[in-house]
Amino acid sequence: MKSFCASPKLVRSVYCLIAVAILPWVIWNGFIQQLNSEWNDLVLRLRPPTAYSQALGQIVLLAIDDRTAAKYGPLPLNRRTLATAMQVLAEAQPRVLAVDLLLPEPGDAAADEALASALRRYPRLILGAALDSDGQPQASWIDPLPTFANQATVAHVHAAPDPDGDVRSVLLTKEGANTRRWAFGLEAARLFLGAGRPLEKLDSVTLGSIRLPASHADNRLLFINYAGPEGTFQRVSFADLIERRAAPASFQNKLVILGVTAQGGGDRIFTPVSSGIGMSGIEIHANVIRTILDKAFLMPVGPVAEFWLGLLVIGAAVLAMVRLQGTRLLLAFMLVGALLFGAGFVSVSLGYLFPIGSLITVFIFAAAVAAVSEHSILRRSLAGEVRRRQEYAFRVQAIAHEIKTPLTAIQGSSEMISESWVPEEQRIEMAGLIHKESKRLTGLVQTFLSVERLASGTIGLEKRPVALRRVCEEVVDRGRLYAARKKIQVEFDAPEIDLKADPELLSFALYNLITNGVKYSPKNTSILVSAEEAHGSVIVCVADQGQGIPPAEREMIFQKFYRAKRDEKGSEEGTGIGLALVKEIVEQHGGRISVESQPGAGSRFTMTLPKE
Ligand code: ADP
Repeated sequence: MKSFCASPKLVRSVYCLIAVAILPWVIWNGFIQQLNSEWNDLVLRLRPPTAYSQALGQIVLLAIDDRTAAKYGPLPLNRRTLATAMQVLAEAQPRVLAVDLLLPEPGDAAADEALASALRRYPRLILGAALDSDGQPQASWIDPLPTFANQATVAHVHAAPDPDGDVRSVLLTKEGANTRRWAFGLEAARLFLGAGRPLEKLDSVTLGSIRLPASHADNRLLFINYAGPEGTFQRVSFADLIERRAAPASFQNKLVILGVTAQGGGDRIFTPVSSGIGMSGIEIHANVIRTILDKAFLMPVGPVAEFWLGLLVIGAAVLAMVRLQGTRLLLAFMLVGALLFGAGFVSVSLGYLFPIGSLITVFIFAAAVAAVSEHSILRRSLAGEVRRRQEYAFRVQAIAHEIKTPLTAIQGSSEMISESWVPEEQRIEMAGLIHKESKRLTGLVQTFLSVERLASGTIGLEKRPVALRRVCEEVVDRGRLYAARKKIQVEFDAPEIDLKADPELLSFALYNLITNGVKYSPKNTSILVSAEEAHGSVIVCVADQGQGIPPAEREMIFQKFYRAKRDEKGSEEGTGIGLALVKEIVEQHGGRISVESQPGAGSRFTMTLPKE
């Protein structure tokens, strides 16, 4: 039975399909998307500092820092202290004041009034609000006291951390009980620009002339393009302001963000650019504002582009695996890795977040699938090559053996011919035998070469019309000569049958079956060669009265170089190749061979060949 062996083409098509099939899984897999974020964080951390940022010079952080806390604390700061500082700041005339402090509960009435009147001095004022976290189905807003919020714009101060806790984006709006609030950074930028209400479209939000790529489908999520780590923005200590050590010019016409940076204040969250400790809330707001004012938006390339890029990467992995090996393969892999990482840098500078993690995952997966498959293809072809070499060596042996028989006859006859006592009549007979055997030798060599080339697939079968009876008669005659040594009768019975076959190969097969019958039968028995036509096929049988074949070995005798256990040490020489060649010839004709046998009572080999 032939084992199923897929062609390399089929194996390659299947593994390419597998690699492509995982693409959607990679694109919509949360874990791999997280991997993308991590890789992009690395790009963001490694890229050179923002070369040009107008917003960087327009934003000032007024920091309630550790020094302020130590001197004017505890936190939250006393409202009277806040009021004093706001009065001082108002004199410097900032364009916008954004207060990232929650001022929801009433305090000392006089202090509250002092703060309210100080805040009233700011025409463009933003106060922070947050959603409560009591686990209600609909969270309610923790708004600033109405006396502070009187003329102010109230905005939400929530960050939108990713599953790993890093803040890479902000939700431009948030919905609480009955009210939707815009983000603190968006409102600050809007007031700074003097723009009207934000204009909402399905795919964007527009502020004046700035279009923010935050779609409704993504909950108005805006990626923050961090200008740098903590400390990138100009910063003035609250203590310096209140003690009038800060130059008023540093606030004039600026967007001032007031908030806590002190370690004890708790307003710190991790970002892609922070290391060690988190980034303060006001620095994150400043980065949101700078992303908007500088129009330095970052956008993911999207699933469609990710899919096409994935296909490209799979192609590269498969090509590398099929074409390259050793150091070149390693270098190609390193090159692809470097290219993907490089593309990350280029695309961030163009405003796109490149899916480095997805593509590296796809590349590794595709390369692994290709490597395993290519390995099996290679192993199979190597095993095939080894088998072919073994077969070749054995076949050479078989040829040598088959050639030996006529050669021995030629040698013996030629020796006798030279003897003087041999009568003339016998001499002529021997010369005839020598001629016949040498012709047979040539035929044998030719047949072997044909079989060899047939098996290796270098020649096709040459079918032509054959008068079967005549071919069989010729082979049976030769068989009789061979059988004479054991006084075995070779009988022949067949009608005239025409079929299409390769006559040389057919003779070779039949001759093999007859000589086997002789070899494995005792003396004084007989062999019957018969042929008949049935249902469009031609059936040729060779039946002997020999020792038969044990049932367990009946299939195996057709394998190359197999000899029945009994005959391995028997007197008849053999290589075990004959029947394998007969089978090969019959199958090349589109036919089949079978054997029936009664151990001790003989064997009957049947070749069934198609007539056409
Ligand atoms: P070889 O005759 O050179 O050994 P073959 O391939 O022709 O090789 O035959 C394989 C084996 O099948 C033989 O060694 C023998 O054991 C068995 N065999 C073949 N033909 C017969 C037969 N007519 N009767 C009994 N055994 C046979």
